[in-house]
Amino acid sequence: MRRAVFPGSFDPITLGHVDIIERALPLFDEIIIAIGINSDKKYMYSLEDRKRYIEETFGGIDKIKVETYTGLTVHFCKKKNAQFILRGLRNTTDLTYEQSIAQTNVAIAGIESIFLVSSPSVSNISSSIVRDVKRNDGDISRLVPKSVK
Ligand code: ADP
Repeated sequence: MRRAVFPGSFDPITLGHVDIIERALPLFDEIIIAIGINSDKKYMYSLEDRKRYIEETFGGIDKIKVETYTGLTVHFCKKKNAQFILRGLRNTTDLTYEQSIAQTNVAIAGIESIFLVSSPSVSNISSSIVRDVKRNDGDISRLVPKSVK
């Protein structure tokens, strides 16, 4: 069973995340969308809402599970018997950030990261931009899936 964990804050899930998850579906038998809980971080959307938006977006797709976790992503992967971490790359800034984390994850746990480059139509989208637009009463409807709207 080829299982991947797609970790993130998903505050909130965006069309950028949806793009990566949908395109990764043929590559894996199961994808666990894993919402990381970091007690030092302030979120705009509650954990319950973030989880619900993801579940509503992918409802009915058996290969996709939604879970929450604390601690190291590689420990969560081991617990779930997942061999891979799935990540999206929008630009070279993402790559620079991801590179050392991915290398560390191989070194400490033997977990490989699989990267998909985002589709050009969504490479501008990030959860933080969505939060900024929302905070200032802008229209987020072209940035997020229906469940968040
Ligand atoms: P984190 O808090 O770990 O940055 P996010 O929820 O922001 O988590 O993102 C989770 C994953 O989704 C990361 O791999 C991130 O690069 C990817 N991602 C986010 N937005 C996009 C996008 N527009 N296109 C491709 N990948 C994206």
